[in-house]
Amino acid sequence: MTAPGWVALVGAGPGDAELLTVKAARLLAEADVVVHDALVSSDVLALASPDAELIDVGKRPGQSPAQGLINVLLLRLAREGKRVVRLKGGDPFVFGRGGEEALALALEGISCEIVPGITSAVAAPAAAGIPVTQRGVSAMFTVVTGHRQHGEKPVNWAALAQAGGTIVVLMGVAERGVIAEALMAGGMAPDTPVAAILRATTSEQSVTRCRLDALALTSVNSPATLVIGAVAALNVCEVAAGAAYAVG
Ligand code: SAH
Repeated sequence: MTAPGWVALVGAGPGDAELLTVKAARLLAEADVVVHDALVSSDVLALASPDAELIDVGKRPGQSPAQGLINVLLLRLAREGKRVVRLKGGDPFVFGRGGEEALALALEGISCEIVPGITSAVAAPAAAGIPVTQRGVSAMFTVVTGHRQHGEKPVNWAALAQAGGTIVVLMGVAERGVIAEALMAGGMAPDTPVAAILRATTSEQSVTRCRLDALALTSVNSPATLVIGAVAALNVCEVAAGAAYAVG
């Protein structure tokens, strides 16, 4: 008798393979098939069994497999009794369309296990020494997408500007000028600190800092996470000698 199949929707973390959960590593080693996104690092994929089939369904500009086709692929593999890891960058339910995939399987009577991952929304700031909350500086953080499909409700940037706290923008590089304008129109100060963290937790990580009113003209590549708010000026891992930070 062969082992029964299963489907697990697994978060791969932000890039560094050591930031994978223990459970994700175990399921990867056990899987017959790994269906993964473009952002999943090769170090993480290397943890799959050498016999496993790796299927890249990554969304890249100009050649994205339709979400429906990915759902159909997962259904087919599940029905074949395969042990399937659907591997997504960061956390599968943070702008990963993991909810849609789990729902598509559930509608066909197939339940999948959800394995959370460390989202880039907190890992990317952390990798730059930026705490998303900091006593006396920021008591909340909002995670928002900078990328809206046609027909989707627009983000209320003015409300976010008024809410205060830290704003973490995923998929916001292309629209960063528009986002900055909208936040400033909503009352956010032009000198609000911004940090853009590119390829966080990988060997290619780089951090760019600027003011909100300079964001449009500041060169930032993708994939990057934008952090907007007072904490973006911090690097708590490299405090310059003599700099006074309030602690306690
Ligand atoms: N589910 C993922 C997010 C998917 S949306 C998560 O939880 O992290 C993809 C966006 O995430 C990118 O456009 C970028 O804004 C951000 N991102 C993903 N990996 C990143 C990394 N290593 N460094 C910086 N930003 C990253």
